[in-house]
Amino acid sequence: MGWETIIKSRREWSTIPHLYDYGEVRATFSWEKSRRELDGLPDGGLNIAYEAVDRHAAGPLRDHLALRWIGKNGEVRDYTYGRLEELTNRFANVLQRLGVGKGDRVYVLAGRIPELYVTALGTFKNRSVFCPLFSAFGPEPIRARLAIGQAKVLVTTESLYQRKVAGLRASLPHLEQVLLVGDDHKPTHVPGTHDYHWLLAEAGDRFTIAPTDPEDMALLHFTSGTTGAPKGAVHVHQAVVAHHMTGKLALDLHKDDVFWCTADPGWVTGTSYGIIAPLTNGVTSIVDEGDFDAERWYRILQEQQVSVWYTAPTAIRMMMKAGLEPIRKYDLRSLRFLASVGEPLNPEAVVWGQQAFGQPFHDNWWQTETGGIMIANYAAMDIRPGSMGRPLPGIDAAIVKRTEAGGVEEVAEVGVQGELALRPGWPSMFRAYWNEPERYQKCFVGGFYLTGDLAKKDKDGYFWFVGRTDDVIKTSGHLVGPFEVESILIEHKAVAEAGVIGKPDPVAMEVVKAFVSLKDGYEPSHELQRELLGFARARLGAVVAPKEIEFLPSLPRTRSGKIMRRLLKARELGLPEGDTSTLESA
Ligand code: AMP
Repeated sequence: MGWETIIKSRREWSTIPHLYDYGEVRATFSWEKSRRELDGLPDGGLNIAYEAVDRHAAGPLRDHLALRWIGKNGEVRDYTYGRLEELTNRFANVLQRLGVGKGDRVYVLAGRIPELYVTALGTFKNRSVFCPLFSAFGPEPIRARLAIGQAKVLVTTESLYQRKVAGLRASLPHLEQVLLVGDDHKPTHVPGTHDYHWLLAEAGDRFTIAPTDPEDMALLHFTSGTTGAPKGAVHVHQAVVAHHMTGKLALDLHKDDVFWCTADPGWVTGTSYGIIAPLTNGVTSIVDEGDFDAERWYRILQEQQVSVWYTAPTAIRMMMKAGLEPIRKYDLRSLRFLASVGEPLNPEAVVWGQQAFGQPFHDNWWQTETGGIMIANYAAMDIRPGSMGRPLPGIDAAIVKRTEAGGVEEVAEVGVQGELALRPGWPSMFRAYWNEPERYQKCFVGGFYLTGDLAKKDKDGYFWFVGRTDDVIKTSGHLVGPFEVESILIEHKAVAEAGVIGKPDPVAMEVVKAFVSLKDGYEPSHELQRELLGFARARLGAVVAPKEIEFLPSLPRTRSGKIMRRLLKARELGLPEGDTSTLESA
């Protein structure tokens, strides 16, 4: 495939990688055994927050730095495991006082602020369900997700509340409690809300976690499909076993590591690897509130002596654009392991890691539904640039094809494309789509979970990503459902129909592009185009809204009336249109 395998030599290793012997670990691995690496609650149950915080706070790591938060303006706040225990106890007590109990959904809409981490962990302690929302969402995606999951509590900042949520309150009858973090640490006095810090200060600092069944629901993570509303993937406390083990095996976390996961906490990576995995592994986790800025990032890597860095292809491509020059100003010798997730990592980027940081980026693959890393390039493994790596111990992955009888069969030949499928059974596997049993059931065929991704496997068992089986869009690592965008566009008075695709982009991988046809009486114009872009942006937020809008007299539809996004995309790219036999008036 044009790129030479990067051979790992023992000399590179300052520490023996956890998956030093892949074959041996895989052969002897079991999830039951892995669970024994965790402590479990004194009564035998399993609670994520206990494994992440309390067990360390009760032992030699009590004064070890758990989180170091770096504010946008450079302010630094440190949280030891002991301090995190106290704060998360307080937050769990706040929830109790507000009448929030087991299974109730506690949402957070915020950027990377310390309160988000305290809220997540305190919510687990109370056995309530943590649900993060991406702070760049506009009011409509926020409203939809709060309504679908029947949020009882929302933690957000005063400014986000005023801009995006206050106007929605009347349409959210389940939302009983809103807790606001004041901007610039100031107390808040907004009617219908509580001041987060005031409640925390008033609450007791001791809390005993009630018996938690490993199958108790812990997390609700929204993801997008091709059609319909966003789906809430349900995860349980037992997922912590997978977070912990994949943190070790795929990210090679060792006791003394300083780990930096750059993912936004509004998405699954920001929870599984931005909160849970580093803490269960007892390492120091860096949280940067600031947005991407190449030099800022290099400075953080140097100053914080980051040893394990988990980031994403869009950011890597932006660093590549900034060139090698800025990197040379920094001493980045503390870096031991670099990993990437979320979108395909181009081979150039893997190799560029070697030039820039003295080691390649290690791509790994997973998704909201899998809850944790499934396929990875491990520290000890030779890398084939462009490949996602090999399945983790405890994970059976296969390439399958659908059969005419409605089942699936494994593709035996190497190098042949098919759908990437996994045998269910790992602890962080999603347990449901919230209130949508049919959508959930559809993911399982012939004993496999079908991921919706197309991939190939080579003769040595490396998996190679090919594309998606559906129309969801990956833009800067964020999954966007075309239906959500189309639904907003057709709310505009001028729009008759809308079809939304991902248009390839050299940095963001894809950008959202919309095709619209207009109602009678409206004519295409630059003004209307600008108005529609602004309309969508105000409702959906910058990441979800289309970056481009093109007018068409009408959109191609199937005879059953579905807009053919595939055809819109093929035409956009100048590719063959494929089978158009179902096109309305082909
Ligand atoms: P999400 O559920 O938002 O985390 O998105 C998951 C999807 O992102 C996967 O189903 C893939 O389509 C894509 N994805 C994640 N990691 C990779 C990777 N390493 N290579 C290619 N695609 C990836």
